[in-house]
Amino acid sequence: MTTIAEHTRELLAEVGALREGHFVLSSGLHSDRYCQCAKLFEHPELAARAASYAKELLGDHGADLVAAPALGGVLWGYELARALGLPSVFAERNEGVFTLRRGFAILREQRVLLTEDVVTTGGSVMELVPLVEQAGATVAGIVSVVDRSNGAFSPGVPFHALTTLEFNSYGSADCPMCAAGVPTDKPGSRPGSRPGATP
Ligand SMILES: [Zn+2]
Repeated sequence: MTTIAEHTRELLAEVGALREGHFVLSSGLHSDRYCQCAKLFEHPELAARAASYAKELLGDHGADLVAAPALGGVLWGYELARALGLPSVFAERNEGVFTLRRGFAILREQRVLLTEDVVTTGGSVMELVPLVEQAGATVAGIVSVVDRSNGAFSPGVPFHALTTLEFNSYGSADCPMCAAGVPTDKPGSRPGSRPGATP
């Protein structure tokens, strides 16, 4: 039987989100693989399929609202909300602090699902927890497409990831690709980079 995790990895491979090379991550660590999850949202019908997997994974979630941190969680939150038949809001940084703007609100006693496309440290999505609690609402869970935390993310609320990806990462001093002289790629910051594109 094919699992949700396997189906999700197939989807990510299909859209070219899983890349191999020599990447400098935002943490400064080097890795031989990278997941550019935004590629999934280039294809709304495939993103909707991922959201249907999440619906299956969540089962009887009891949530009233989906809330996402901009930018990474927004499209995923929107697709998840559509699949679950819930409203969707997003928070964005205002002077560094996540804030609801644009008339969005979290209401007292709402049960809120938080979303993030890829959880590495989980920093952004966890910054929404005080926003939810200050509204008198509760966090029903956190839903990501990918868990890249290598098991380190344990938020104290139910955490659902469609799939887990564990990549090797290295400091530049002990990176085998650096030692071999392979050119680096900063995947998050390079406009228009495509899977298989030569630098
Ligand atoms: Zn390196």
